[in-house]
Amino acid sequence: MADKTYDTIIIGAGGAGLTAAIYTARSLLSTLIFEKASPGGQISTTDIVENYPGFPKGVTGGEISSFMEEQAKHCGAEFVYDEVLSVKKEKGSFLVASSERSYKSLSLILACGSSPRKLNVPGEKEFSGKGVSYCATCDGPLYKNKQIAIVGGGDSAIQETLYLTRFAERVTVIHRRDKLRASILLQKRAFSNPKISFLWDSVVTAVEGSKVMERLKVKNVKTGSESFVRSDGLFVFIGHDPETSFLKGFVDMDEAGYVIVNDKFETSQAGVFACGEVRHGATKQLVACSGEGCIAALASEKYLDEQNPRGGMK
Ligand code: NAP
Repeated sequence: MADKTYDTIIIGAGGAGLTAAIYTARSLLSTLIFEKASPGGQISTTDIVENYPGFPKGVTGGEISSFMEEQAKHCGAEFVYDEVLSVKKEKGSFLVASSERSYKSLSLILACGSSPRKLNVPGEKEFSGKGVSYCATCDGPLYKNKQIAIVGGGDSAIQETLYLTRFAERVTVIHRRDKLRASILLQKRAFSNPKISFLWDSVVTAVEGSKVMERLKVKNVKTGSESFVRSDGLFVFIGHDPETSFLKGFVDMDEAGYVIVNDKFETSQAGVFACGEVRHGATKQLVACSGEGCIAALASEKYLDEQNPRGGMK
């Protein structure tokens, strides 16, 4: 049962949520932040972040995640490491329920991000954890001197492909078109790496093996021809889906399930703000997610002050 009423509950401790927590807690708003996996969200499983200002040589995803978590705690934010199952408004406050208990707040910041999209092909689920992975930093070291395949052509796929060449003997990028979506810098690095080869205009149609994954069934989308690619591992980086199933009917969302906000990061529900990857139209860059977390935190502070002015000096 909820006893204490927090000023703000933040759902999701990625770059957006942790920045929001630093701002609200530092403004002396009682702040509770939920995280169901590891703080830092997707950043925590990223090898190296090279485009976050202040780190001229880059910073590992693990490091920057724990720096942000430590900073939020230092500012006074409380953490709950559990999944939020439902959210509702009751008698002027918000009730946020996890499997264990409910928590109450006067405002909410949705920073729940997104999760890796699946291929949805036969064998993918069966061999998940037995060859199929969605996290290079978690599972890459298991593939020392092995053959692996990557699906995707965006920044995530190419950045993680480059990382995986540290371990694997050979990395094959399977992409459904004949051009990458990734930034030119990453493309250049990948094209000049002798361990990386490309299978263009191709999609994986099945993952096969016995106890562990052994091969991929691949179809050329232009010719329709099918072939097998021997591979010890498959890493899938084909984008993300928003983590918003528990928010259905609570705030307005777009067709894909991303939360719609106005230019003040307000959702359709008064007192509820959304920022970072879960927001419709987000740029999905760590620095932008952090900036959005700051704006959402300031907007929630303004909302709380309008409801119940705290007075005092700023
Ligand atoms: P993304 O940019 O949406 O790229 C997804 C890739 O997967 C695309 O190449 C897409 O092909 C392919 N794809 C999608 N669905 C597929 C399917 N069912 N089967 C096969 N291939 C499929 O996703 P992301 O790479 O995860 O990046 C997300 C955002 O984060 C982007 O804005 C990106 O810039 C950002 N990001 C930035 C960095 C960085 O700055 N270093 C690192 C990682 C991510 P098509 O190209 O044909 O659509």
